[in-house]
Amino acid sequence: MKFLIIEDEKLLAESLKTLLEEKGYQADTVYDGITGEEYAKLDIYDLVILDVLLPGRSGCQVARNLRSRHFGTPILMLTARAALEDRVEGLDAGADYYLTKPFDSRELFACINVLLRRQGPQVNELSFGNTSLDLFSGTLFCGEKNLRLSAREFDILRLLFQNPERNFPKERILAHVWGYDSNAVENHVEVYVGFLRKKLAAIGSNVRIVAVRRLGYHLEVEQPC
Ligand code: CA
Repeated sequence: MKFLIIEDEKLLAESLKTLLEEKGYQADTVYDGITGEEYAKLDIYDLVILDVLLPGRSGCQVARNLRSRHFGTPILMLTARAALEDRVEGLDAGADYYLTKPFDSRELFACINVLLRRQGPQVNELSFGNTSLDLFSGTLFCGEKNLRLSAREFDILRLLFQNPERNFPKERILAHVWGYDSNAVENHVEVYVGFLRKKLAAIGSNVRIVAVRRLGYHLEVEQPC
């Protein structure tokens, strides 16, 4: 799971990132509305935490712009203002939930859990072809056979299993799995896709990771000859 934090109070942004990382999530932080909107549009995040009062572009405007592009990721809005009209404005703009600062971490995680649960019923397992991916253990199953994936392998395959027929460019996989701050390069994606292809073959999966030039990777079910 990867979060985007758009919050100009750097101390708060960093402490949110630390809290999320302690729970095993990944998080990117940005400090203004315009950059925040650009990051959100990459569509690599599972949840966006969005402050209302931001330099550049307000959180409400960011939410409105994103929703006008059919952006489906949950948005948790943060603000120091507790007035009813502000909350209504945030929700009208497309936020899913509104949290008033200061809040404690239990309240934050209660909201996050609600928003992530709302994302869909398939929270335990993703399936494609004759293969399924257990999201809790990071294990790949095919018939009687199964194999444990490494954290990076799991993150890549989860992304592909969520939208099997969609093409994911290498730079997008890189940003989703390694983040923008890492030194990883596109070659890392190729290496890990190689590991995943071997693991899929080893358990007899009929799922193939197909590379399309310039478009990236997608999944296909191999048809029996
Ligand atoms: Ca602010």
